[in-house]
Amino acid sequence: MSNPLLSVADPLAGLPSMLAVRDLHRRMSLARVGTADTGTLLAMLRVDPPAAMRALRAAAAPMHGLEAVPWTAERIANAIGPSLLRRTFDTPLVDVIGTAPLRQLWLHSLATAHAARRLAAESDAMPAEEAYLLGLLHDAALWAEWTSRRHEGTAPGNGRTRNANVLPPALAVAVTDAGDLVRNGLTANTTTPASLLAAAELLAESAGFLHPGDHAAPLVDGVLDLIDAEATDELRADVERSLRAIGLDLDVSEPDLPIGTPQKVEPQHSAHQTSIEAAQLVLTVLGDEDPACRARDVIAATTAAAVRHLAFDRACFCTLVRAIGNVALRGVHDRSDRSIATPQIAATAAELQALQQCLQQNRPLRLVADPNAQRGILHALGAVEAIAVPVNRKSGTPSLLLLDRTLSARPLQLLRESDVVSTLAVTASMRLQNLLLQRRCRRAQKFALTDPLTRLYNRRMGIASLDQAIARSHRSGVDLTVLMIDLDQFKKLNDTYGHVQGDQALRATADVLRKTLRRSDTICRYGGEEFMVVLPETSAEESAVLAARLFTAVEARGHEEKLPITVSIGLASVRQEDSAESLLNRADRALYASKAGGRNRFSIADEE
Ligand code: GH3
Ligand code: MG
Ligand code: MG
Repeated sequence: MSNPLLSVADPLAGLPSMLAVRDLHRRMSLARVGTADTGTLLAMLRVDPPAAMRALRAAAAPMHGLEAVPWTAERIANAIGPSLLRRTFDTPLVDVIGTAPLRQLWLHSLATAHAARRLAAESDAMPAEEAYLLGLLHDAALWAEWTSRRHEGTAPGNGRTRNANVLPPALAVAVTDAGDLVRNGLTANTTTPASLLAAAELLAESAGFLHPGDHAAPLVDGVLDLIDAEATDELRADVERSLRAIGLDLDVSEPDLPIGTPQKVEPQHSAHQTSIEAAQLVLTVLGDEDPACRARDVIAATTAAAVRHLAFDRACFCTLVRAIGNVALRGVHDRSDRSIATPQIAATAAELQALQQCLQQNRPLRLVADPNAQRGILHALGAVEAIAVPVNRKSGTPSLLLLDRTLSARPLQLLRESDVVSTLAVTASMRLQNLLLQRRCRRAQKFALTDPLTRLYNRRMGIASLDQAIARSHRSGVDLTVLMIDLDQFKKLNDTYGHVQGDQALRATADVLRKTLRRSDTICRYGGEEFMVVLPETSAEESAVLAARLFTAVEARGHEEKLPITVSIGLASVRQEDSAESLLNRADRALYASKAGGRNRFSIADEE
């Protein structure tokens, strides 16, 4: 493939977690990931640089808007929440990693973290816990390098380095500067994060925690007074204590295996026994007929099904806005309740091209992040790879699912998973189209039942709801009153002001009715300039009060419109033997009585 997106790999993919090394894992008495409490998981995060890097990448994903936060292990854990923290360690066990260099790098990182925390506590370069994390992660690039060597079976020392691309810019700068300080043998003090880190690294080395394949750096004047026997003893004690907290000890030596021994991957996690039936079930549960079901619900069910039943760490539902080369995130599920700070993400040219290809060919595609990218969809998601699945490709803004397992570092297997994710997407697409049809149908129905001029119900709908209200009233014995309302001398108004103003008078009257009456009341345009109002649970006396309010409101509105609008009202309450027809007849007679009595008044049926 020419698209670079489809070829670059995750620098840390080969070693998901230092604690996933099989013999370490076996000896860890506390690390039953499924049952470990949050405190234990945090203790594990604090001694596991590759896991901490992945968790940091998840926490600092630009889409969540937390990039600028100064990071500590605890803040990472809080940001991603307990479920994702657990998932950080729920990774495949790594069989053949028993290389001394990786362990040496591990203990060196751990010692540097503790040294940085001690030095920070004595200076004010940075808070101690931030210094700890900086120390733990400072060799990100070396981790990536050693991991890829192991992965590819190349011998160490061939000088190949990879951009680890896992540290937020602020941490990366401190690390680079510290490296320069150490290499150039400059005086290390502890007044800036970089110089503090440089001093911490020297302290770790003088306590015996060297880089793999390295000799201790020559000690320079400025650090000599930091390093005495007491300080190095304390540091070793720190490291031992943090290992003991998770059931390990400093003596981690095991028979060493040559680099490049083929990796035996765990059989797929049971959750990976992909259950498309289960995924579809989730969607089916959202009943077709449920009028409250919305696109948002279908999207939420789809992304949740991908995470729960297809074992993705995260599922994003997005639409592609081709014109501006953006995707808009419309729903994200990842077992955390983090909010999305940037729902609009600009795609890189390569991403855009890949997504177009995925839509055109209507099949899932694997995207791989360029580790050097500082923008784009995968960058914003903090993902190293993702499967893109077309959902609705015909629409003007086509939609896709983006699925990834970046945090748990389980590989995406496009060929194996293609059918399953496609079925999920097709199910979601059908549900969404169904909703669209239903919405169109409802709109058409509404159109058939409302009056276009006043937007009130038409006569047919008015009578239907009167029928229902009468039946309800007969059942429960509660009051029910109808009003027939007719504009006075409307013919004259039309003749004097013209039909356009006549229409405006009708709209204004409808508006007054809407604002004056309750939501539970039904208002309809019964005929030309005649309205019918159904008032459930309202007696004739209560309706009379309401009618009086209507007169005032209609007249006041007439003044605003500079039109002489008044109404006459006929009022009738339901009786045991009433049908809609008999009730309306009596209301009509009352209306005639009002007209005959001089208009702009109301009459109550049978009292006229
Ligand atoms: P009354 O006080 O006795 O009700 O007198 P009226 O003039 O209001 O009654 P009549 O039934 O004689 O006239 C009704 C008029 O309403 C005639 C018709 O042109 C007008 N009309 C009916 N529908 C509309 C409409 O949608 N727009 C406009 N501008 N006028 C309408
Ligand atoms: Mg009239
Ligand atoms: Mg009339």
